[in-house]
Amino acid sequence: MTVADYDIGIVGCGIAGAAVACAAARRGLSVVLLEREHAFCMHSTGRSAASLDPTVGSREVQELTRISLPFLKDDQTDSAQRHVLNSRPVLLIAGADGEAQLCQMADSVLVQWPETEVLTGAEATAWCAALRADSVAAALLVPGAYDLDADLLFECFMARARLAGADTRRSFVVGEINRRRSDWELRGPESVTVRTVVNAAGAWADRVAALAGVKPLGMQPLRRTVVAVAGSAGCDAWPLVTNIPETFYMKPWGHSQLLLSPSDETPDEPGDARPQELEIARCIEQVNSATTLSIRHVRSSWAGHRTFAADRVPVVGFDTDVEGFFWCAALGGSGIQNAPAIAELAGALLDDDDPSPELVPLVDPLSPRRLRAFDSTTRSTDP
Ligand SMILES: Cc1cc2nc3c(=O)[nH]c(=O)nc-3n(C[C@H](O)[C@H](O)[C@H](O)COP(=O)(O)OP(=O)(O)OC[C@H]3O[C@@H](n4cnc5c(N)ncnc54)[C@H](O)[C@@H]3O)c2cc1C
Repeated sequence: MTVADYDIGIVGCGIAGAAVACAAARRGLSVVLLEREHAFCMHSTGRSAASLDPTVGSREVQELTRISLPFLKDDQTDSAQRHVLNSRPVLLIAGADGEAQLCQMADSVLVQWPETEVLTGAEATAWCAALRADSVAAALLVPGAYDLDADLLFECFMARARLAGADTRRSFVVGEINRRRSDWELRGPESVTVRTVVNAAGAWADRVAALAGVKPLGMQPLRRTVVAVAGSAGCDAWPLVTNIPETFYMKPWGHSQLLLSPSDETPDEPGDARPQELEIARCIEQVNSATTLSIRHVRSSWAGHRTFAADRVPVVGFDTDVEGFFWCAALGGSGIQNAPAIAELAGALLDDDDPSPELVPLVDPLSPRRLRAFDSTTRSTDP
C-alpha cells in the first residue's frame, strides 16, 4: 500500500490556509500549503480594512471573535515589538432619520458590551472633529474594537507553521484533485498526495470543491471597494466611523491618511477584484456629506472579495458526502478577526480530537452539513 506524502494538503494560502496550517502542524500532522499566486495574501487577506469589531456579524461570528481575542491580544513579534491589535474604538453615527434605529440597536449592544457609550451628536463630533454637527443626531461608541495588523498575524501563523514542519509552496495552481484509494492527488506544476484536502480557497472555494467532485455549497464572493485619501490634522486618533444605514466607513490608515469604503456588496466572480469608478465616487460623496473633509483626490484604491455562504456563517468541517474533504471557507467580512478560533476548531477536527469546550457549541452551526440540508430542502420543492 502506498503512503500519502502528507496528512493534510491545504489549497489556498490566505489567512484561512495559514491559520489552519499552523494549527494542524502544531498538532504533529504533516502539512503542505499550496498557493496559486507567486506571493501569499494577494486576494482577500491582503486587501482587508484590518479592523476588529466585536459587534459585527452573526452570533457565530461574534462568538468566534470573542474566542480569538486572547490569542490576538497575546501575539506580537519579538524583534519589532509590533502588536497584532491596537485599540481603535468604533463610532456608529446616525442622522435624524436613523436615530430611532440606533437607539434600538443600543439596547441589544449594551446587553452584550456594557462598556458601549451612547453619545449625543456634539459628543460624537468631539471624537472625530471632521463630522458635520448636522449629520449626527446620536452615536454609539464601542470601545472594545481594534486596528488589526493582518500582515503580522499572517506572518505569525506562517512562521509557526513552518517551525512545526509545514511545507509551503507558491505558484502552485491546484488544477486537478483526484481520488486515489484512500488518498487524494493534488496536481499542479507537480503532484502531491495527501490524506485530507483542506479547501481554504476563499472566493474559489466552490471551484476547488468541484475539482474534487464535491458538490458546491453556494459560496458567493461580494466585491467591496476601498480608497485611501489624505487625512486632516489629528485624524490618526479618530475612531473608525461608520453610519446607519451602513453606506460608508472611514478609519485612519497609516500616517495622516484615511481609508474609506462605501460598504458595497456587489456579487462577483472569483478573480482579481477591481475597484469600480462608480463605487469610488459614491464613497467620496457619502463621506463628504457626513464630514467637512471635502475630499477630491484619491491616493490609491482597491477592491477585494468577502465570500459568504447563504447564511453568512463560516463553513468549517468535513464534507458530509465526500470523505477526506474539509472546508474552511466563507469567512465573509470577519476572516482575519475570526482566524485564531477557526484554526483551533479546524485543527481539532482534522486531528480527530475534541474541540475545546467553548468551541463545541460552534461545531454544528459551522458544519457544511447545514448547507447540504438547506440545499436538499430547496431542491425538493423545485417543480
Ligand atoms: C475590502 C475588505 C475589507 C475587509 N475588512 C476586514 C476586516 O476589517 N476585518 C476582518 O476580519 N476581515 C475583513 N475582511 C474579510 C477578510 O479579508 C476575509 O474574510 C479573509 O481574508 C478571507 O481569507 P481566506 O484565506 O478565506 O481567502 P483569501 O485571502 O482570498 O485566500 C484564498 C487563497 O486561495 C488561493 N487559491 C484559490 N484557488 C486556488 C487553487 N486552485 N490552487 C491554489 N491556490 C488557490 C487564492 O489565490 C488565495 O490566495 C475584509 C475583506 C475585504 C475584501
